[in-house]
Amino acid sequence: MQSADAARGKVGFCDEYGTEVYYRTRPFRRRSKARDCPRCAAAVSFFHNRRASNKKMIAKVISDVSLDRAFDYLVPPDLEKTVRVGAAVRIPFGNSEREGYVLELAETSELPAAKLKALKGLSEHRAPIPEKLIALGEWMAQYYCSSREQSIRTLLPAAVRSGKIRPATTRVYSIADPEAAQKFLDEHADDLRASGRCSLLRILIADGALSRERIQSYACYSASSLATLVKHRLVGVEEVTIRRDFKTVEVIPSRPLEPTVEQKRALDCFDKMLDAPPGSPRVMLLHGATNSGKTEVYLQAIGKVLDRNQSAIVLVPEISLTPQTVRRFRSRFGDRLSVLHSRLTDAERFEEWHKVNSGEVSIVVGARSALFAPFTNLGLIIIDEEHESSYKQSEAPRYIARDVAVMRGKLENACVILGSATPSAESLHNAKSGRFTLVEMPHQVEDRPSPQISVVDLRAYAGGSGPAKDAEKNAAYGLFSPPLVEAVQRRLELHEQCILFLNRRGYAHVLTCDLCGYEARCPECGVNYTYSLKRGTLNCHLCGRVENAPERCPACGSPELRRFGAGTEKIEEIAAKVFSPARIARMDSDTMRSAADYERTLEKFRRGDTDILIGTQMIAKGLHFPNVTLVGVVNPDLGLALPDFRAPERVFQLLWQVAGRAGRGDVPGEVIIQTTHPENEVIQFAAALDFKGFHDFDMEFRECLHYPPFGRMIALHFRGEDETATLEYAEKIMRELEPYLNDTLKVTPPAPAPIERIKGKYRYMALIRGEGLALVRKAVRVLALHRTPPKGIEFYVDVDPQSLL
Ligand code: ADP
Ligand code: ZN
Ligand code: ZN
Repeated sequence: MQSADAARGKVGFCDEYGTEVYYRTRPFRRRSKARDCPRCAAAVSFFHNRRASNKKMIAKVISDVSLDRAFDYLVPPDLEKTVRVGAAVRIPFGNSEREGYVLELAETSELPAAKLKALKGLSEHRAPIPEKLIALGEWMAQYYCSSREQSIRTLLPAAVRSGKIRPATTRVYSIADPEAAQKFLDEHADDLRASGRCSLLRILIADGALSRERIQSYACYSASSLATLVKHRLVGVEEVTIRRDFKTVEVIPSRPLEPTVEQKRALDCFDKMLDAPPGSPRVMLLHGATNSGKTEVYLQAIGKVLDRNQSAIVLVPEISLTPQTVRRFRSRFGDRLSVLHSRLTDAERFEEWHKVNSGEVSIVVGARSALFAPFTNLGLIIIDEEHESSYKQSEAPRYIARDVAVMRGKLENACVILGSATPSAESLHNAKSGRFTLVEMPHQVEDRPSPQISVVDLRAYAGGSGPAKDAEKNAAYGLFSPPLVEAVQRRLELHEQCILFLNRRGYAHVLTCDLCGYEARCPECGVNYTYSLKRGTLNCHLCGRVENAPERCPACGSPELRRFGAGTEKIEEIAAKVFSPARIARMDSDTMRSAADYERTLEKFRRGDTDILIGTQMIAKGLHFPNVTLVGVVNPDLGLALPDFRAPERVFQLLWQVAGRAGRGDVPGEVIIQTTHPENEVIQFAAALDFKGFHDFDMEFRECLHYPPFGRMIALHFRGEDETATLEYAEKIMRELEPYLNDTLKVTPPAPAPIERIKGKYRYMALIRGEGLALVRKAVRVLALHRTPPKGIEFYVDVDPQSLL
């Protein structure tokens, strides 16, 4: 098959911009010269070589112990036809044998031919990886500075990669020789001793082939009769692979809805993307309000792709992978859909992966890792809630699924739809610069009244100065202000439900004043200082500035400076007293140990057996409870105080989502936000449900201080039990990077990370940010992967970090 790529020569992609670069192969040249990306002039790596016949074939193979290197092996002539890029192969390795994946096929090797060992054969238990996915894996390894084997491993679920789970098989019986069978029946018509065998033959003649399970279900079955028939070659047996059967949900089929004007506009735009010539940008940013009908757009876009015999991947945050979401996809597409969530057993995951690989299904819905579904005819990737931080993987390769999806789309000429009610700054920036096409759906399908949002100034009730006389109520007013208490009690009387929401991600230490809301903040970088209790200092982890922590609040003089306190547990305890006898449930990562816990708690709440649900971000997303009419945000300041330039964005998104939980039925909802910063812009914009206002504000702040999306960022993390040694190594690495840095880049020298110690290990972090990080990234990658740090010290790299804690 001659593809367009092949006609133009090899294709490569720029790490930085993803620009496609074509390079014509010259068969007589030994090594192809690298070419530069026309946009950023960085050298481009090429992934696959095409081979002229009559030459030796060399496979570059990576295995789990490759240490970022592919090794060359000769492909024996009998394997030349079957070995291709992505094939799982057996290789000689030292004195033993290992398995690995072919990353590239070439004609030449750096090693002399005599030194090359030959491949031993194809792996029996491991499935191959599609060639385009291998290219994606190689790109991830380079861009995210992870080792190549780590990257390739990511492409396959562990259950498939291990080769330990085997496909389920069964025996299938059928008549081997119809004439002989008929003859046997004629001859033994009156033979009582042969009646069992005769019955089995008659059944097999009538039914064709029968599996072992089916044939055993007949009354006349006997193991010995069947064995005799097989022995005399009247009946044949075959071992066939079957799909393990897992229970599927019964659903009522749904038909496409007549699109609204806004949906029609989005779908027309999608049609244009589908028909655009190869190589055109095909990413749509669908900025649609909650309930604007984004999901219906996804469903119809998938329908269009299926009509073209192509397949689709839908990524949703793990937390929204609820039965509700799955049901909507299932009822439209039935069995053509495979759902990959983290609760699948290994065997289930194995089966689902093989369903995709064999083309039995054409749609995959799943969390982050579903992005690597092995489709070879991919037409569309949808990323729902594209702004979600859970699309970032926290272990190597530390990729962002949204960005890798855009790359996969580019590699496979597939369309990408990024959907969100609160798109990320990065995606909106890409839309502004023309890389993505922006489609807006500002209106709800059925106009429901927006919730009423009010902001309560907690400072008015701090320190027990509220109206209550007894100590218990005073303590409560630190957490629940009288307006919130009254609102909750009103709902309880009406038998309506409430959600109390607390953002508890504030585990970095920051210094604040309860009385006036003062927060210690770096004057240069605009983010909160990290407070070190041990040293008594305030540190900025972006510019490295250090100050002594003040004894008294510099704003109001109060001596009661402290770091934030109450978590959901405390809130539950106090809520139980204040709102007795209401039925209260708590939902956070401490109480929800399993998926069953999660569903049980939600089900109780849905049935109305719980009056107040208290929880963290876990309850902020994707849940629909028509009877919830009040949402109380106990304290968003915790999130705002995090020393991270994304803190405003995260808090705004959360408040937006939380507000969306109220009043989804006929009753309009009410949202109460308690804060010590009622004047804070983020809170103000959220209370006004003003996304554009917030976005402009956030972008101004980011541009001013050169945060992404204005430039990019690489975080270098160092960890070790010996603090001095860890810092010394970090500084040594930074010195080695100096030749690759220039004046346009901002460099933060190694400083204690906001969360200074985790599990007894000290953490240091250095940051590099700016435009054009390609060269530095290459240098960082080499230092991180090909240098062994001193014993007990770890060094890892996070490219495009999503959290700076
Ligand atoms: P979003 O994903 O943006 O939150 P949904 O796709 O879930 O929005 O749509 C919100 C509600 O409107 C759903 O109940 C859905 O069934 C309904 N809906 C969506 N599109 C249409 C349409 N074209 N006609 C009628 N109802 C629609
Ligand atoms: Zn600073
Ligand atoms: Zn103060």
